[in-house]
Amino acid sequence: MTANIAAAKAALAHLDLEEREAAIKSASRDFFWYSPVLKDRLDHVLADFVVRPKTEAEVIEVLKVCYQHDVPVTTRGAGTGNYGQAMPLAGGCVMHLRNMNKVKEIHPGRVVTEPGVLLRELDEACNEQGQEIRMFSSTWDTATVGGFIAGGSGGIGSVHWGSLRDLGNIIRLRVVTMEAEPRILEFRGEELARVSHAYGTNGIITELELPLAPAYDWTEVFVATDTFSEAVAFADDLANNDGILLKLASVYENPIAHAYFQRVKPHVEEGTNLIGLMVAPHSMDGFLTFLARRPEARMIYRSDDHDWPRAPGRVFEYGWNHTTLRALKVDPSITYLQVRYAFPDHRALIERIRAMFPGGEVMQHLEALRMGGKVAFAGLSLVKFTTEERLNEIIHLHEEAGAMIFNPHRYTLEEGGRQTVDATQLNFKKEADPKGLLNPGKMIAWDDPDFGYREMYAYPGMRAAE
Ligand code: FAD
Repeated sequence: MTANIAAAKAALAHLDLEEREAAIKSASRDFFWYSPVLKDRLDHVLADFVVRPKTEAEVIEVLKVCYQHDVPVTTRGAGTGNYGQAMPLAGGCVMHLRNMNKVKEIHPGRVVTEPGVLLRELDEACNEQGQEIRMFSSTWDTATVGGFIAGGSGGIGSVHWGSLRDLGNIIRLRVVTMEAEPRILEFRGEELARVSHAYGTNGIITELELPLAPAYDWTEVFVATDTFSEAVAFADDLANNDGILLKLASVYENPIAHAYFQRVKPHVEEGTNLIGLMVAPHSMDGFLTFLARRPEARMIYRSDDHDWPRAPGRVFEYGWNHTTLRALKVDPSITYLQVRYAFPDHRALIERIRAMFPGGEVMQHLEALRMGGKVAFAGLSLVKFTTEERLNEIIHLHEEAGAMIFNPHRYTLEEGGRQTVDATQLNFKKEADPKGLLNPGKMIAWDDPDFGYREMYAYPGMRAAE
């Protein structure tokens, strides 16, 4: 199967087609460089052209033309994914959905939107009606809602609502297939798992219906403790106080706050452990009562009443993967891991793993979230990178200790997930993308069903570096 790029470009020339080399290069990259392993493997990846459809009808046209000419299509929201998710490994077309940016309908408890709307824009539109989106990635300011659903997992709001994959957090997705005659399908309930967090490998989301919550002017707070275990206990116990409404509870082991959070640094010591919180304003009384019962914890900042000469900005922009970004800016040798510390042994497991890495090679950054209704932690640990071998060893040690790793140093769905075939997603791909043209190289089960996960998958169709 050889792609006829020239024929596809000619057929799509009447659309918003990008051919400038620099623009194509930047639309071919995401935040893959967070990982030195992916940086090494994917730095050269480049599309042949970029097209920016404005409507669902134009999406269908792009898919139909590319199908006809065997051209791979990799969909792009804003390109803030970290796993090389939005990178066109085999070249071809990058279909950029940023122009599909209309919020269509807002009703009590739900919103209907196009996929290219930024999370911030969507939230602000809902705020005008006294509502807000339940959860968003810390890239609220820059990421699209379509990219969040197709590539993300959860974030700010997950301490209360759980993850995107939990029932009820997505209501409906409208999806276009990549066939000779693309079909439009509507998914609800069990069917949502076909395309949510599928990296656009088996269908393109052209409309989303998401649940909303009442909007609050969240009070953002930093709390400091001297010991790490006090900080973990504070966040865990607070998140378990059902009457106190939180949107965020992050924990940063020392010296993260002092070493990497420039505007927080003047207010903490090197040994300070930090907790970042978003508390609903009507829960502040309850929160302050909780705080008063914890003499080991001191509130050093609250967004509605502080005397910091330089305000720290949004507290959620220190959490989730923004922690890694802030650390990377100070120390380019930093990378990260994604760890699952499940209930009920989460605290003991965190302490056990922490004890395995004295000396700062692995620094604990935790996000409280609900897993099956129970408060537990996602770890986005900071790692001082030395070699790929050592990184693999650190991952292995976590797994041996009983923690599940979602490896952010891999570009496939399976390796970044549970290392198993997702039959629901695979079966839908067989039906919706029979030529395997959607985001090729990201689903191992499609290319190599017998892959054993003993080494890193190397997609054979990847364009060679020039
Ligand atoms: P992209 O990166 O453009 O796309 C993501 C994936 O979805 C790609 O595989 C793409 O092909 C596919 N895709 C995009 N749009 C569609 C569509 N309409 N139909 C089908 N497939 C599509 N992630 C979290 O889950 N939580 C976080 O808190 C978080 N914080 C982050 C912080 C930083 C600093 C960075 C760099 C990343 C973070 N991420 C986080 C990862 C990423 O930002 C989020 O997943 C984000 O919401 C992705 O949105 P995007 O528009 O940039 O998507």
